[in-house]
Amino acid sequence: MAAYTPMIQQYLTVKADYQDAFLFFRLGDFYEMFFDDAIKASQELEITLTSRGGGTDERIPMCGVPYHAAATYIEQLISKGYKVAVCEQTEDPKQTKGMVKREVVQLITPGTVMDGKGLTDKENNYIASITAFDDQTYGFAYNDISTGESRVTLLSTNFDEVLNELSVLSAKEVVVASNFDGELQKKMRERDVLAISFEDNSSLEMNYAHLLEDLNQDKLKQTTARLFNYLYRSQKRSLDHLQSVTTYQIHHYMKIDYYSKRNLELTETIRSKGKKGSLLWLLDETMTAMGGRMLKTWIDRPLINQAEIEQRQSIVEVLMNHYFERQELREKLKEVYDLERLAGRVAFGNVNARDLVQLKRSLMQVPFLKQILQGMQNEQVDKIAGLLDPCEEVTDLLEQAIVENPPLSLKEGNIIRDGYNAQLDQYRDASRNGKTWIAQLEREEREKTGIKSLKVGYNRVFGYYIEITRANLHLLEEGQYERKQTLSNAERFITPDLKEKEALILQAEEKCGELEYELFTEIREVVKEQIPRLQALAKTISELDVLQCFAMVSEDRHYVKPQFSTERRVAVKDGRHPVVEKVLNAQEYVPNDCHMDSDREVLLITGPNMSGKSTYMRQIALTAILAQIGCFVPASEAVLPIFDQVFTRIGAADDLISGQSTFMVEMLEAKNAITNATQNSLILFDEIGRGTSTYDGMALAQAIIEYIHKRIGAKTLFSTHYHELTVLDEELSKLKNIHVSAIEHNGKVVFLHKIKEGPADKSYGIHVAQLAELPAELISRANEILTALEHSDVQADVPVKAAVIEEKPAQLSFFDEPKETKKRELTSKEKRVLEKIKEIELLEVTPLQAIN
Ligand code: ADP
Repeated sequence: MAAYTPMIQQYLTVKADYQDAFLFFRLGDFYEMFFDDAIKASQELEITLTSRGGGTDERIPMCGVPYHAAATYIEQLISKGYKVAVCEQTEDPKQTKGMVKREVVQLITPGTVMDGKGLTDKENNYIASITAFDDQTYGFAYNDISTGESRVTLLSTNFDEVLNELSVLSAKEVVVASNFDGELQKKMRERDVLAISFEDNSSLEMNYAHLLEDLNQDKLKQTTARLFNYLYRSQKRSLDHLQSVTTYQIHHYMKIDYYSKRNLELTETIRSKGKKGSLLWLLDETMTAMGGRMLKTWIDRPLINQAEIEQRQSIVEVLMNHYFERQELREKLKEVYDLERLAGRVAFGNVNARDLVQLKRSLMQVPFLKQILQGMQNEQVDKIAGLLDPCEEVTDLLEQAIVENPPLSLKEGNIIRDGYNAQLDQYRDASRNGKTWIAQLEREEREKTGIKSLKVGYNRVFGYYIEITRANLHLLEEGQYERKQTLSNAERFITPDLKEKEALILQAEEKCGELEYELFTEIREVVKEQIPRLQALAKTISELDVLQCFAMVSEDRHYVKPQFSTERRVAVKDGRHPVVEKVLNAQEYVPNDCHMDSDREVLLITGPNMSGKSTYMRQIALTAILAQIGCFVPASEAVLPIFDQVFTRIGAADDLISGQSTFMVEMLEAKNAITNATQNSLILFDEIGRGTSTYDGMALAQAIIEYIHKRIGAKTLFSTHYHELTVLDEELSKLKNIHVSAIEHNGKVVFLHKIKEGPADKSYGIHVAQLAELPAELISRANEILTALEHSDVQADVPVKAAVIEEKPAQLSFFDEPKETKKRELTSKEKRVLEKIKEIELLEVTPLQAIN
């Protein structure tokens, strides 16, 4: 170490504390990286790797980025899951002898992005912390540092619950104790957690105690303290916008596990992983970024409390009935800036004057919002109006203090209005007077010299000067002005008076700049005190925004208000799949009814592929979810129970990451549903058992249906291509067959997408095969097998039919497995022969012996 230059020594000392981060080491106008950091960063950022001497023989690898472009590079690294420690010069180099002091001022990590492109307007950026307790429970807390929101809960021994929460929140980073189970860390990474960070201190040392006051359990406190300690340690500044931590319970919301969420494409589609095509995409008519984020949260956590749902519904209804007011409301909401993140930036200290003007303009919308709502003359809506706090003090202050179009930079002045501060006005007068004097000087000198093109100019190096073109120089008297600079076609001069004024002007301007910055900081501090009010306002506006969005979509798409049944009854008339309906556009979506009650618990759906079975099942689930987030639903009438949980096992959800077979995933999901569902749940099973051999699959499918029917009683939709299962309705009183109809028209299959009572037509598949022009011989053989199957004896409780249908003149295959299900019992002699054959060691015999 000692051999290195002092600068490299300083670098290494700082770096020692940030082993797991890229250290951006400020040197003049650059952030430099050295050693391994430089090698890795040059690859990740595709920037040139150089080297420098550092006091020893070795050349030290080095690369750097200009400080003003650093944000982009930092974002790139963060999005790849890295951390970046920003190390600044914390002393003025002009006033220091020797090494300038340098310190890390902020550690930026995937979960602690405060601004820039790393944040998406309508998405939260969450960091979570998990504490494993001895009794096998997990404390789970999360925070969005850009908005200040934090919540905490206690999860049961099943780590899947933790993983589920991480997925719901798309948490980018998780903070755990350093001895946290490695296997579980791996599982978290499989759920797209970019970074896992360690914080062993779980007792609250920082002055955030007041935020934890409402937490009544030690476990909750420890978990949140771990998170806050980490935030404090990494951000190195006060985070005054952190809101009080609220507790939540996952069973207070409709539970939808990760796979089901994906299958139902609630917030992103399975294939593209993008928002387009999801329920969120369909619903998102929010006007503000905050509303967009809240909508996503609501979709992720549908309610189960009827009163709460109905409260949302009733406001949606009022808004629907006030078309013009709603349009006006939308217009005003459009002008509302992201108050939540703005408040965060105020606290963080990186807010600029333009942001404050945006804040003011947003706040100025509030009285209009109030007025529009009050105009609707409804008690519930009035309540929302009452919660809208216009924060006048803030609006007034900003209106008085800050100009309408301030520059981005805070150091160049022109931020504060005239008349706001007397001292500032004085400086400005001085500078303005000086400038008037200069304009006057220009006029006077032109007259005096008779040079019309004489002008007084300014540049940073020489200050103010008088410029005379070469052609006019002869008009000057010798020594009239003092020569300062020679250009190709002009000369520049100064006079003592001019320099005197210049000093006054520059001094005044410098003072203006300093004072403006000071005043701006003061104003920011005043706004900071109002952060809790701004946050409360943000919350109300977000809710209002989501509710108006529900009203708008419900009206545009002709949704109805669902009623809730306490007898677990489903009665949906003309129901539609909300997203498919929208995507089909011009094509007609075929609406379908759905009826389920205590006599119809399980619906077994048969029908050809592509007829619309899974669309129908998803449609039911999405309708239930829409209802429980407070939106209206795509139907002409709808009665629904309040479902506590929704489980799905639907087609394509391949689980590549964990490397499990599709069938294993299918069974795990089935297990999850069967072990957790209650009679208040909704289960959707699409083609369960398809992933294994026919008998296996059919047997499992039947057993699963029977189990749900007898033991759980959850409302279940089960689609299958095992036609044999349709006889189950004879045994299971609450199981009903339905099918999706299709017809043949001009030699083509036409799917009517219409759900009908009863099982589908058996020979349908062969019919389709015929239309697809498979060889005639093959079709007639298929018909033969079908007829034989239909005439074999079937025991009522075992619909699984195994049959060997003799093919007429056929060649025996060497490789056929002996069929164990011969219709006839073997004679004892035959059995003995069979035993003998089985004893033969095939690898030891000659061909002749084998034939014998
Ligand atoms: P299955 O599950 O029976 O194989 P899907 O539910 O995947 O069939 O539906 C196949 C396609 O049929 C869907 O992509 C959709 O475009 C269309 N479809 C399904 N149901 C309807 C409907 N009710 N009205 C119009 N088109 C539908």
